[in-house]
Amino acid sequence: MEFLRPTTWAEALAAKADQPEAVPIQGGTDVMVEINFDVHRPPALLDLNQVAPLRDWSVDEGGYRIGAGVSYTRIIDELGEAMPGLAQASRTVGSPQIRNRGTVGGNLGAASPAGDSHPPLLAGDAVVEVESRDRGVRLIPAHEFYLGVKRSALEPDELIKAIRVPAARGPQYFSKVGTRNAMVIAVCSFAIALYPEERRVGTGIGSAAPTPRRALEAEAFLADEADWHAPLDEAVLRRFGELCSGAASPIDDVRGTADYRRHAVGVMARRTLGWAWNDYLGRRAA
Ligand SMILES: Cc1cc2nc3c(=O)[nH]c(=O)nc-3n(C[C@H](O)[C@H](O)[C@H](O)COP(=O)(O)OP(=O)(O)OC[C@H]3O[C@@H](n4cnc5c(N)ncnc54)[C@H](O)[C@@H]3O)c2cc1C
Repeated sequence: MEFLRPTTWAEALAAKADQPEAVPIQGGTDVMVEINFDVHRPPALLDLNQVAPLRDWSVDEGGYRIGAGVSYTRIIDELGEAMPGLAQASRTVGSPQIRNRGTVGGNLGAASPAGDSHPPLLAGDAVVEVESRDRGVRLIPAHEFYLGVKRSALEPDELIKAIRVPAARGPQYFSKVGTRNAMVIAVCSFAIALYPEERRVGTGIGSAAPTPRRALEAEAFLADEADWHAPLDEAVLRRFGELCSGAASPIDDVRGTADYRRHAVGVMARRTLGWAWNDYLGRRAA
């Protein structure tokens, strides 16, 4: 197996353009597992760890730009206030060792429907910045990035450069159901983001459909029905949960049944909306 070690972004893009079959490796917490278990033996690995800009994040008036190689630990420690939903999801990933190595870039590269970063990226209006040597930069909204089980909009000659995440404009929450409390792949998960100025919510459902997805009908329902000056009506909360549940199209597998997943998505949607709404009203009153 060839081991390519570019030291600049331009070299990395050139290597991917010349050898599209080369598999990028950042934290390696997915790639190395697949190689160790012989799931996949790529002809070449493209190690991105020497490409320093991938490990940077920055902020401007458009929001945050997180390099694809920024670890979960750093998102939790350095960006927790700006993007609480993504930070909460990051806290649930694996163990401290996995969070030190693993990255959101790698989560996107793997595009597993169970990846924990996807629901908050969807709810938080994130955009994935990808680039190829021959066609330059493409900005792909998170909701257009996921195409199927472990399939994304990334072309074979493209690399993920960064994730653009607007600073939270209201409360955000992430919730995950697992078969135990830590080191667990989601049975299903849910993220919510409130945008009080726009009177809308963003949602993200994880591990309950072939791809991570938003609950669009539930978002539209809340935009129409919620009274942003008062506690949420029980009936509105319940209907929101039902619509989120209906947006899922889960399967039965070793981690859980489709019925359970549909039910749990509804419960998480209701709960996270309730928590977020309480925070929102609390902040207004303060
Ligand atoms: C013990 C253990 C526990 C885990 N727990 C969780 C969990 O709780 N939640 C969860 O979501 N995941 C979990 N994972 C999976 C993994 O940690 C995450 O998916 C992580 O985000 C992968 O990041 P990485 O940097 O290690 O990616 P890598 O393994 O380096 O790469 C993952 C994929 O992304 C591609 N890739 C990497 N960087 C780029 C780039 N810049 N451009 C294009 N493609 C790229 C790779 O080619 C590969 O296909 C766990 C893994 C292990 C081993």
